[in-house]
Amino acid sequence: MDFKEKIREIEDFPQPGVRFKDITTLLKDGKAFRAAIDTMAERLKDKEIDVIVGPEARGFVVGTPLAYALGIGFVPVRKSGKLPGETVEAGYSLEYGKDQLAIHKDAIEPGQRVLVVDDLLATGGTVSATLQLVNQLKGKVVGAAFVIELSYLEGRKKLEEQNVDIFSLVQY
Ligand code: IMP
Repeated sequence: MDFKEKIREIEDFPQPGVRFKDITTLLKDGKAFRAAIDTMAERLKDKEIDVIVGPEARGFVVGTPLAYALGIGFVPVRKSGKLPGETVEAGYSLEYGKDQLAIHKDAIEPGQRVLVVDDLLATGGTVSATLQLVNQLKGKVVGAAFVIELSYLEGRKKLEEQNVDIFSLVQY
């Protein structure tokens, strides 16, 4: 399936000069959504992943069905102050700003094999902060998976420097 055809591009969002990749058009198409998750699951099924970690909000939208398809657990990473239990935190800078991410302290057992999942890899800032959280809990990151990779922003380079194996469904 041509997944790119299902992704809408919106000019000047959230600010002038940015060409936003909108996956809502892919998500609302049941066949395309299922094919996207199934393709990712097929590619990742032999990596012996114990748990998927996904940052809010679109990391949930891609990460939870993928975890379900692989028959493994899902751990949410949220903006600071949103999780009810005890957390560890990490700061990060986004393509469009700065923020602080948090994960429940007891969400990952030391040595568990973790796949980080988000909708889109841009500069790699969000995923790098998520990696820091997983590392703080002594999880072993076995890779990072995305629906979309913006190759020109070189997020891949940033993550590969941290020895993270990357999978993306479509590239721009
Ligand atoms: P990064 O931290 O620079 O890699 O940016 C990735 C994060 O920003 C992801 O969580 C995305 O959801 C969000 N993001 C950045 N650009 C876009 C876009 O064009 N479409 C959808 N999400 C985006």
